[in-house]
Amino acid sequence: MKDLHVSSHSMVQHKLALMRSVTTEPKKFREVVREITGLLLYEATQDLDTNEIQVETPLAVTAARKLAQRIGFVPILRAGIGMVDAALDLIPTAQVWHIGLYRDHRTLLPVEYYNKLPVQPTVDLCLVLDPMLATAGSATATVKVLKDWGASRIKYVGLIAAPEGVERFHAEHPDVPIHVAAVDSHLNEHGYIVPGLGDAGDRQFGTN
Ligand code: URA
Repeated sequence: MKDLHVSSHSMVQHKLALMRSVTTEPKKFREVVREITGLLLYEATQDLDTNEIQVETPLAVTAARKLAQRIGFVPILRAGIGMVDAALDLIPTAQVWHIGLYRDHRTLLPVEYYNKLPVQPTVDLCLVLDPMLATAGSATATVKVLKDWGASRIKYVGLIAAPEGVERFHAEHPDVPIHVAAVDSHLNEHGYIVPGLGDAGDRQFGTN
């Protein structure tokens, strides 16, 4: 069975509609990327390991729970950058490791141009951040980089996936859960998700 989580949360779906709309300007688009990322990460992190600790409240000492794992956010440049602030709002102690991959528009294959991971893994769980799981070329390549690095547990968090992307991603990485707000109809001949929201990088940064 595919480990695919499509959020049915009303606020996620409301914000997704705003992002899809062609009339949403970059400033608003960036705000909504940040807001929806926070909600998706809230869902994606619900099963993180915690340790029991003792906390002194103003009234008594009580048992409480503390995050037990070192978390790494791995935004895929450039569109994943817009998801980082929301991620750090949720887990301020997390590390952020950038991976730079661009999609060659002719071959649609990912080309790595930035990777500064240290020799040894420094985190227990990597959350890969990339808005669009289209051909899944960049996401599968990033997960492979992280596995080769020694990452023991990885999750992918994005906004919209294409069925083709989900299929390919899980064919290569069946152990990595996918968390998104929607799985759309299909990819077009240019590798864009339909209906999608266009180019997530251009929509955030006002380029095209
Ligand atoms: N990347 C995007 O930004 N949008 C798509 O639809 C596909 C890939």
